[in-house]
Amino acid sequence: MRFLYGPVASWRLGRSLGVDIISTKEKTCSFDCVYCQLGRTVNKTAEREVYVKTEEIEREISEIADTIADTTDVITFAGMGEPTLGANLGEIADVIRRQCPKTPIAILTNSALMTDAGVREELKKMDVVVAKLDAPDQPTFERVNRPLNEEIKLDAIIKGLTEFREGYKGRLCLQMMFVEENKESGVEMARIAAAIQPDEVQLNTPLRPCPANPLPPEEMERIQKHFKGLNAAVISVYDKMKPEVRVIDKTEVIKRRGVED
Ligand code: SF4
Repeated sequence: MRFLYGPVASWRLGRSLGVDIISTKEKTCSFDCVYCQLGRTVNKTAEREVYVKTEEIEREISEIADTIADTTDVITFAGMGEPTLGANLGEIADVIRRQCPKTPIAILTNSALMTDAGVREELKKMDVVVAKLDAPDQPTFERVNRPLNEEIKLDAIIKGLTEFREGYKGRLCLQMMFVEENKESGVEMARIAAAIQPDEVQLNTPLRPCPANPLPPEEMERIQKHFKGLNAAVISVYDKMKPEVRVIDKTEVIKRRGVED
């Protein structure tokens, strides 16, 4: 398998079979987050293009389609960078839906292309959208997510997320990664979450090997208190247990996650 990996044990999604429609040797992303487990961004871009042909993903999915229902809770677009940069994202989602109609489809996105109405339409094909939001203002956004250029504006991303929510019937999860640089932003982040109205807020801190230190449990509990009263499920990485998984190919997982599950 070159483009599918896992299933991995995701604290947010359960047994998650990864689909990497970017699959470049080095990471391809419009951000360069201080906590990224894939290291510094080598291919920094905000342009969409076809990185992996739809037929190649289709071939790999068809090889294991019979076993997916038994081994996998969710099929997730993720991998060596930002999956919305794949111009054939929507087309591949359609292929997966046809081949695995019983398994939900999710995506982990950095939210940068929520500003693009076409991308928002493609994201509506997913059952679960896990959208990154780590900052309440542009300076914090630039410190934590280090976007490609100053044309990428947090305000526009938040507006895009809000518009997406209005037309999206699936499960929208906001994923907020807290590190030293944004640990005092909990109050404003909770206010922004309340305005967007996600189904779930995932409060995270980087526990996998990466360049940033995780916040301790007491710090995360302090942040979580700001989200009390929000009309959404609020989960914290320290509270969740990982599910058991049977991995197809450990090398492909380690390449994309730095650890084997
Ligand atoms: S958006 Fe994701 S892949 Fe891109 S730099 Fe940040 S953590 Fe890494």
